[in-house]
Amino acid sequence: MKCLFIVKDKTLETLGPMYLSSVIKAAGHECKIIDIRTSFIDIINDKPGFIGYSCMTGEQDNFIALNKKLKRAFSFISVIGGCHATFFPEDFEGKQFDHIVQGEAEQWTADFFDAPVNITSDLNSLPFPDREDFPDRPIRDFISSRGCPHKCAYCFNARWNEMYPDLPKVRMRSVSNVIQEIKEVRPKFTYFQDSCFGVDMKWLRNFCAVYAKEIHAPFHCHLRPSQVTQERVDFLRLANCVSVRIALETASDRLRKTIGRTNTSNAETVKAAQLLREGGIKLMIQNMLALPTSTIEDDLATLEINIQCQPAYAWSSIFSPFPGTALGDECKNNGLYKGDYSDITDCFFDKSILEFSEEYKEQTYCLQKIFALAVEAQVMPELDELSTETLPKFIHRAMRRIGDNRMYGGVI
Ligand code: SF4
Repeated sequence: MKCLFIVKDKTLETLGPMYLSSVIKAAGHECKIIDIRTSFIDIINDKPGFIGYSCMTGEQDNFIALNKKLKRAFSFISVIGGCHATFFPEDFEGKQFDHIVQGEAEQWTADFFDAPVNITSDLNSLPFPDREDFPDRPIRDFISSRGCPHKCAYCFNARWNEMYPDLPKVRMRSVSNVIQEIKEVRPKFTYFQDSCFGVDMKWLRNFCAVYAKEIHAPFHCHLRPSQVTQERVDFLRLANCVSVRIALETASDRLRKTIGRTNTSNAETVKAAQLLREGGIKLMIQNMLALPTSTIEDDLATLEINIQCQPAYAWSSIFSPFPGTALGDECKNNGLYKGDYSDITDCFFDKSILEFSEEYKEQTYCLQKIFALAVEAQVMPELDELSTETLPKFIHRAMRRIGDNRMYGGVI
């Protein structure tokens, strides 16, 4: 049978459908992974007998509409999975999907296609992801673990752990299993998608030693600020880790309580940035603006800590009250969010949809746009520069500082 997976985009390797594609191919079927912008005519001409959609919250309307259109055009088995199908299967009921798959889909896929693979909850039992539709990529994605031990209130992780209480919070592949996959792929650059890389120090030590000896391609991973210790930095550096992403999200202790990240502090983040800088590892910091009850002063304080940390890239987004997350539900119950969730998109950079003043929404919309630039230029915006009309003034001011620094090593 011809099988097809349709994903939102293929910028990063979409490991979820890639694992499933391997299972399907093991059963002797053809399988392709395409993105949602692929021409409708091409899909119809191809006439797959099976189409799987991998759907995150915010993308559901697009997939529902596409499935309806395809179902009108020809007959096939349609399956919806991914994060939104896992937490909100009811959104797809009665929408012409033949199957709605919740949670990890490898076992379901193996059973459906009668694949000769023995899949268990042990990640080492999975076939390696199928990369055929992602040829010649300079950056290759891998995942060495699934799950996360934390409970951030804006994230689905806590709900996942409630749904699957028998699964350990974090499952790790063995070092040899990960290394074997990387050896087969031979990446120029290795990008680990794990939520928190190497949570088990013994595993990390062993991994770094083997990676240094047998792979040595530069790699990137995600850590919590508290994970960034001198020992970890030394091991990561030895293995040629060249960049790390950590999340500060907010510099406000009050907001940290709101988002369930009291185990992160500003001092810890500044220290993590220093250790990584000294270790020669580039840093990306992730931040969230317009959190529930946030003020522009809170958001500017977050920017200030980023300026202090001097990351290679300061990433920021606007908070979205995802339904089903603790914080999303709290926003709804407390009247901070009055929508019906149809206004939640898959973009994290639009204006806030919470019940803030228009002035604050505009300020945070503008701050998000210049956040990384302000960090790069090491300059704080004035409050009156945070409007769409005055933002160009700030951009000009920041670029002049960057230019002066590059030209003269200081600002004139
Ligand atoms: S650390 Fe990341 S994956 Fe884990 S709960 Fe927080 S946001 Fe979710």
